[in-house]
Amino acid sequence: MSSIYTCPHCGKKSFNPLKKAFAGQLNSPGKVCIECGRKCVNGKGATIFNAVYCILAFAGMVVLYLNAPKALGTEYEWIAHYEMLIGIGIIASMFVIPKIVNAFFFRLSPAIRIDAVK
Ligand SMILES: [Zn+2]
Repeated sequence: MSSIYTCPHCGKKSFNPLKKAFAGQLNSPGKVCIECGRKCVNGKGATIFNAVYCILAFAGMVVLYLNAPKALGTEYEWIAHYEMLIGIGIIASMFVIPKIVNAFFFRLSPAIRIDAVK
């Protein structure tokens, strides 16, 4: 039974959510499969999600920066007070969200970086 935790090289279910979360994207060195010793990364789907999420998060930062001052004196005044915290939260989410998504979604791919091949 093939799952998202199946190694693309040997077909064994050698990954778990934590290991998969830190296997990185197509452009990273990847993690070694304990069954066959070859390296795996999160595939194209995860890489695209990561790129899209970073763009959205960055857009969110710009929107926040431009609109936070306007929130003063309105029912959304808390946005202006917590602008800094919200910004930090968005930046932190750019690191955390793709890892969570990698842990539970998308298939693994063979690592393609030259230095990942021995
Ligand atoms: Zn393997």
